[in-house]
Amino acid sequence: MDQIVAQKTLDETIEAGAERAFGFLERLVAAPSELGHEAAAQELVAAELARLGFAVERVSLPPDIERLPGAGVSTVSPAGRDVVVGRRAGHGPSLLLNGHVDVVPPGPEELWTLPPFAPVRRDGWLYGRGAGDMKSGFAMAMLAIEALLAVDPVVAAGELAFVSAIEEECTGNGSLAAAHAGVIADAVVLCECTGLELLLSGSGILWLEIEVRGRAAHAHAAEAGRNAIEAAVSVIAALRELEAELNDGAEGGPYATNIGTFHAGDWQSMVPAIATVGVRVGFPANLTPAEVEARVVEVVARTASGEPPELQPRVRVNGFRAEPYALHAAHPLARAVAGAHADVFGVEPGLMRGTATTDARFYLNQFGVPALCYGPRARDIHGADEAVELRSIVDGARVLARFMSGWFARGHA
Ligand SMILES: [Zn+2]
Repeated sequence: MDQIVAQKTLDETIEAGAERAFGFLERLVAAPSELGHEAAAQELVAAELARLGFAVERVSLPPDIERLPGAGVSTVSPAGRDVVVGRRAGHGPSLLLNGHVDVVPPGPEELWTLPPFAPVRRDGWLYGRGAGDMKSGFAMAMLAIEALLAVDPVVAAGELAFVSAIEEECTGNGSLAAAHAGVIADAVVLCECTGLELLLSGSGILWLEIEVRGRAAHAHAAEAGRNAIEAAVSVIAALRELEAELNDGAEGGPYATNIGTFHAGDWQSMVPAIATVGVRVGFPANLTPAEVEARVVEVVARTASGEPPELQPRVRVNGFRAEPYALHAAHPLARAVAGAHADVFGVEPGLMRGTATTDARFYLNQFGVPALCYGPRARDIHGADEAVELRSIVDGARVLARFMSGWFARGHA
């Protein structure tokens, strides 16, 4: 069978499997998998992997994972929360596909046109929290794998693994735990929703919780107190100045500081004693998480200079300590995925800006394994009315399948 005929067969097999993949995606979206509640979604992934002939294992987050280089600080107990791993034994070059089932919270549900965990298809898009980021990537990968197993005996005989991670959105510790447990390969493709573009890099990301300390008092005697909310406003202003410094002259970016959470106050006629600010600090490749943490501690302390020790703000890491990462665009893995994309679309894929992070960083930084992200087209991820374009799941599967076909064929050249 010549190559053109083989690709036609592959495309037709993918098209024929699309509806099943969409149904799988709908079931995944309907299993809310916010931090700490990933089990139901992981069950669905495990069942799908088993159906495709993978041996399914589970990897738990070790209690001392924070000591590993690159690890984040987990704030939720690991009990009952596992990474799901699928393995197909084989020979030749090995490949690992990676996705994460955890989703960010839906936010205020009244901002959604439709309920976030009751997926609905409308005008070619599927709506729901996680529909894009990144349960659509699972649908794309399973669609490609199922078609390849049916029509490509070389892929069917290859060594293929799948990691279904947790905590990608806050620490990355799921993929890190799996890699340390030996789930690694010659290359990794993460099926994040990149809009069918290549995503080869990520910025540094640090998550910090800043507890701003005041002194409680009655509102009519406010001069006896110190208002923690107003002090927190100064802290936020200091963080904005640091953000400008981090971006000044830096390559790439922008490197965003985001004030993501704020909790304070008990009563309108009380001077609040504590305000807690949750912040995400993005930073460029010339800095480490530890260096950025030290800079934050320094600028935050300056806002309380002259105050006694008990009124000093407390800063602690409560999530990402993500190092910047990058795969060179000329790397054979990047070229191979770009080539598969060009084969389907007739043009090279665009390059997505790496202003966030992904679990690709561990494979590149800690294990020296090439890794990149490629996946469907989504909109409003981390916002209301998140959605994925269904057609892009099928087209992404065609690209992924071509890439995988070529990858495993290298061992038989
Ligand atoms: Zn994601």
